Amino acid sequence: APAAPRRAIRELPDELISQIAAGEVVERPASVVRELVDNALDAGASQIQVKLMAGGVRAIVVEDDGLGIPAEELPLALKRHATSKIRSLEELESVATMGFRGEALAAISSVAEMSVASRFAGAAHAHRLDARSGELVPAARSRGTSVEVRELFFSTPARRKFLKTDATELAHCLESVRRHALARPDVGFTVWHEGKLVEQWRAGSSEARLADVLGDEFMAESRPVYAENGPLRIYGRAGLPEAARSRADMQYVYVNGRYVRDKLIAHGIRSAYEDVLHGHRQPCYVLFIEIAPDRVDVNVHPTKIEVRFRDGREVHQRVRYAVQDALATSRSAEVASPAA
Ligand code: ADP
Ligand code: MG
Repeated sequence: APAAPRRAIRELPDELISQIAAGEVVERPASVVRELVDNALDAGASQIQVKLMAGGVRAIVVEDDGLGIPAEELPLALKRHATSKIRSLEELESVATMGFRGEALAAISSVAEMSVASRFAGAAHAHRLDARSGELVPAARSRGTSVEVRELFFSTPARRKFLKTDATELAHCLESVRRHALARPDVGFTVWHEGKLVEQWRAGSSEARLADVLGDEFMAESRPVYAENGPLRIYGRAGLPEAARSRADMQYVYVNGRYVRDKLIAHGIRSAYEDVLHGHRQPCYVLFIEIAPDRVDVNVHPTKIEVRFRDGREVHQRVRYAVQDALATSRSAEVASPAA
């Protein structure tokens, strides 16, 4: 085939760069929810409200009672690669916040209508910045930040076509909040849809939060996991084999507080079940892995859902043993209890 005539190399316009980058971070309303709740947590919020319209496609509002953003920094908050969370490579390597790439707000504002209202601690009043117009106006807000996102993908119809029904998008948004809620029992979460309260998780103990989010049945049919080896700590709950399901929809793994999908860890867990779980049955579990930050790289994927361990084999093995122990303890306890 004849080659197309060559076109000269050009730098892409900023707006298009942001839209391309947004493709990696913002897939659907639930991705926006994830990023905004991450930001609220990084701001030290103790209460987070998520308000959705039409499964989040029409509107997503995330409100927090965190530190807030000074008015003069609001425009920067929406700029690509602008962040308050890291300053250097050293800080990246020991990053403790959920965010650090300075991409989310810029990405979201390039594929949706967005405004940010915030009152920085100590400021006389709040300010609201409209992303499109750049207008900064006084706003009423007692504290914290409220980010409002409307009409996701309004300017990118090709992306919008990939969205599912409102009910499906809502389910994904709820799952996104659930993932945060499991990791942060110290924070209260509420989710509203079309003006109706759909979830409320009050701040409390870790046990209470697991029961609230995953249900009493999961608590009854799971056993505590705990293992500590030097810089690696593994804890959580592993579902008993009889609690296994046909779908892998109750499997939560966190590394240093961040929800991840990691093949290595999933495999380690799976192998702990190999003698007790057969066929395609899927175990239920919530595992929190705490590891020294210099032993894990979280900057592998734009959404940070993947991580890379310095010593993957060790993590795999420790996870496997930790879960095996939890399951074995439960079996020996059952054998030991008289005529149970
Ligand atoms: P990142 O989280 O990677 O820094 P974002 O684009 O998500 O990038 O946010 C940019 C900056 O805006 C953050 O670094 C933070 O300073 C500020 N920010 C965003 N959301 C909030 C919030 N809810 N509360 C306080 N500050 C926020
Ligand atoms: Mg962020």
